[in-house]
Amino acid sequence: MNKVDDISTYIENKEYIANKYVLKCFEITMLIYVLAYVLDMLNIFIIDYDVMTAGFVPSVIIYLFVFVLTQYVPLTNEKLKYLILFCVVAVFTIMGVTITYHVVLVALLPFLYATLYSSKKVMYYVYILTVISTIIVVFGGYYLGLCDANMVLLTTLPRRAYIENGTFILNEVNSNPFFSLTLFFVLPRCLVYIAFAVICNSIQRIVSGSVEKARLTEELAQAKEEAEKANQAKSRFLANVSHEVRTPINAILGMDEMILRESKDEKVRQYANDIHDSSLLMIDIINDILDSSKIESGMMEIVEVEYAVSTLLNDVYNITKVKAQSKGLELQFNVDESIPCEMHGDDKRIRQVLLNLLSNSVKYTESGTVSLDVTYTADEEYANVRYVVRDTGIGIKEEDIKVIYNAYQRLDVTKNREVEGTGLGMTISQNLLKLMDSNLEIESEYGNGSTFSFVIRQKIVNAQPMGDFQKRMQRGGEDEMSALHFVAPKARILVVDDNPINRKVVRMLLQPTQVQIVEASSGAACIEVLEQQKFDLIFLDNMMPEMDGIETMHILQERHLCDGVPVIMLTADVVADSRERYIQEGFTDYLAKPIIMKQMEELLAKYLQVGDSQLEKIIFE
Ligand code: ADP
Repeated sequence: MNKVDDISTYIENKEYIANKYVLKCFEITMLIYVLAYVLDMLNIFIIDYDVMTAGFVPSVIIYLFVFVLTQYVPLTNEKLKYLILFCVVAVFTIMGVTITYHVVLVALLPFLYATLYSSKKVMYYVYILTVISTIIVVFGGYYLGLCDANMVLLTTLPRRAYIENGTFILNEVNSNPFFSLTLFFVLPRCLVYIAFAVICNSIQRIVSGSVEKARLTEELAQAKEEAEKANQAKSRFLANVSHEVRTPINAILGMDEMILRESKDEKVRQYANDIHDSSLLMIDIINDILDSSKIESGMMEIVEVEYAVSTLLNDVYNITKVKAQSKGLELQFNVDESIPCEMHGDDKRIRQVLLNLLSNSVKYTESGTVSLDVTYTADEEYANVRYVVRDTGIGIKEEDIKVIYNAYQRLDVTKNREVEGTGLGMTISQNLLKLMDSNLEIESEYGNGSTFSFVIRQKIVNAQPMGDFQKRMQRGGEDEMSALHFVAPKARILVVDDNPINRKVVRMLLQPTQVQIVEASSGAACIEVLEQQKFDLIFLDNMMPEMDGIETMHILQERHLCDGVPVIMLTADVVADSRERYIQEGFTDYLAKPIIMKQMEELLAKYLQVGDSQLEKIIFE
């Protein structure tokens, strides 16, 4: 049985128990009431024999009727409930009869109820009602001259006052005791009792309703907490799996890079290239799974920064170009020249969405063109940037467009059997866009190609036009190529990692840069080395036995062992906000495993240059 079923059963039980209590209360009240009535009748019998037959029989019949009514007819109509409440007050007010019974009874049941369910609200409500009505009755009766206040409180006497000393109406109807008693004694009592019964019924509903609501809220809160815990466990599990998988892939990619560098055999190089591509694909899949789990658990956050539009588009172009070229597809980027050059937003996520869409277009297109059009409209300090990805690929059937965002759903499976994919890319893209207040629109002609578009609103930081993207890109490409290779034989780098293969990977990857590398296999070893030697940069792994990277960092800071030295967190932990988290802990920067050589070189170029320059020469290739 699931949680929802559990809760419904629970509520049913609770309602049943609440009903059982209220009926018990009713029965007891009824008994008290009947006893009181009998006493009353005896009193009447002694004083005035006639009134008994006149009052007793119709009253009992009506009481019984009411009893049956209240037990079997539930009252749910709110308006009726309040109307009846109003009648009760009115009846109490007009007729000053046997008020003490009613005060006691009206108070008793709700009091029991309130005690049972500890609902002070209901108790106050009823007490105020009875107090107000008593005051009105006492003063009203006194004012009309029907009775004095003592008589009202002494219950049966006012009735005699009506009959014997009554004023205008009483004198007239008094000639017919049956009529006068029914009108002034039985009917009001019955009305009061009906109203009372209905109030109890309503109270029972209100109270049991609120009890259930409270219970339900509590249950739901508990269920939510459990779900959150489960989600956290899932995220933790995924983070661990991701970490565990990344570590060996780091070794595979690192060693593969060595083969690519050292082997001259074309066949071997081809094998190594395939290993490289497959490893990167595996990382992409892990990233997608992590992302979708983050989105599911609401942990995905948009981090807004200032960014250069040209850098964003450059990256996207360079990555897509390699893929498009390998399939012989033409890749076109048509970017509005006047687009503001700097904006404020989450460029990483926009990049991710564009790469998803473009790589899908490349994947699902056999021949022709894949293009990206970027246009914008400005509105005050904001730009509404429109990205349109077009392809001349296989297209998507109209009915399939509806299900394209279902996680893990792949379309046209027979046709796409050869194409690799997990069915997560579109789901992630759409969710990321939603987080950025945008929406993905898809148009497609089955067999002829598809168009994916979205508009994203970004704050303009620098309104200067970006200029011709094609020209810029060529220039940028040249810069990038030349900046990437350097040697720094005087630079000393400490690599701290418990895994010897990981240390070896860093050492070998950095071999061409000629930097001097010292290795430490634990946090403690790192501290020991730093107490004796100075370094220009430290790569510190996080997940190490005994003392992890963050703890090590804290000790280094306390003992001033890394003052002025960039400490880079080198880790396979890439879960949400890792970078920000590590920087908060005191790290200078963060590099994810598996190490992408380009990123590693960029980091070294940045931090070795900033400090006491150790870069001997930068080789422009
Ligand atoms: P996958 O990893 O399978 O590509 P996605 O979520 O990115 O997963 O896409 C879901 C499905 O949508 C794909 O399996 C494919 O059938 C279809 N699809 C996505 N993009 C295109 C496209 N440009 N042309 C044709 N079909 C596409």
